[in-house]
Amino acid sequence: MLSTDEISANEESTTRAGIDRKVTINIVVLGSANADYSMRTPRIPSAGETLQGSDFQFALGGKGANQAIASARLGGRVAFVACVGRDSAGELALATYRDAGIDVDAVSVVDAPTGSALIFVDDAGENCIGVAAGANEHLAQSHAEAASRRIANASHLLMQLETPIATIQAAAEIARDCGTQTILNPAPARPLPRELLALVDIVTPNQTELASLTDMRVTSQTETVEAARELQSRGPNTVIVTLGAAGALVVTDDTVIPVETSQVAAIDTTAAGDTFNGALTVALAQGETLIDAVHFANRAAALSVTRRGAIDAIPTRVEVDAFR
Ligand code: ADP
Repeated sequence: MLSTDEISANEESTTRAGIDRKVTINIVVLGSANADYSMRTPRIPSAGETLQGSDFQFALGGKGANQAIASARLGGRVAFVACVGRDSAGELALATYRDAGIDVDAVSVVDAPTGSALIFVDDAGENCIGVAAGANEHLAQSHAEAASRRIANASHLLMQLETPIATIQAAAEIARDCGTQTILNPAPARPLPRELLALVDIVTPNQTELASLTDMRVTSQTETVEAARELQSRGPNTVIVTLGAAGALVVTDDTVIPVETSQVAAIDTTAAGDTFNGALTVALAQGETLIDAVHFANRAAALSVTRRGAIDAIPTRVEVDAFR
């Protein structure tokens, strides 16, 4: 829980940064924390087969954690609400979030394994992934309620869909009650109750997620706008559709604005969406206009695709400000 001293320290630092005193840069990210175990195999193993692999890698991930780290690296003061397991991956995850400057008091250690992904990548670059949600499944409504003071003190609450929907909805209700803006990155796409979408201010699907959420075709700009309008009719004021190398399309009540991004040599798009969402939230929390915030998010995400990995690919504020 933030103490009064911490809250006023935050106000002071925003004033020093030249930002309006009333603007708060407290952000709460609620979501998943995972450990990814990957290796290269000559081909994807078939049922019953054992293959010799190489290039084993361990990396922390999970959309919640990636977005919390992106928000912190890009200048946000971030509290993370999540569950990790009582295991070495959970310990490493907590230490990594702390090192990134994230408030981890609302990260619970539970009696389940830390969420894990097992990934095989073959010589042709195809992959095959199994995910065990583990501790993420334990993120309960009571965890959202325990974080209510943090949510109330934040300007923005950022969430994704790798944790139980009932918890996401409970957090969105708390946010709505105390005037905190809710940003939902609906990834991975899964059916969403209307009551949840009704509580969301900004929703940020990619085109595949938009198609899946609306059951509509999303292959042209006209279709993208139609599907975004359908999603908007279910609650959110603003739909920001991410379009990969084409940037993003911002759909509000009365405007449709394409926001192009920089041309870069993309080598790995793993954390592009997570970087985009973290950056968007930070810029909005700092009082940027919606379109300026999307430009900032595009710049941060474009930088992330020029680097390999998830957390390792997320740029810092200084790097994004220097990248025009
Ligand atoms: P996701 O990674 O979640 O599937 P997108 O592919 O739409 O979502 O990418 C998210 C954001 O990352 C885009 O809106 C854009 O800002 C950035 N991005 C992704 N791919 C590229 C690319 N090849 N070049 C520049 N920016 C990119």
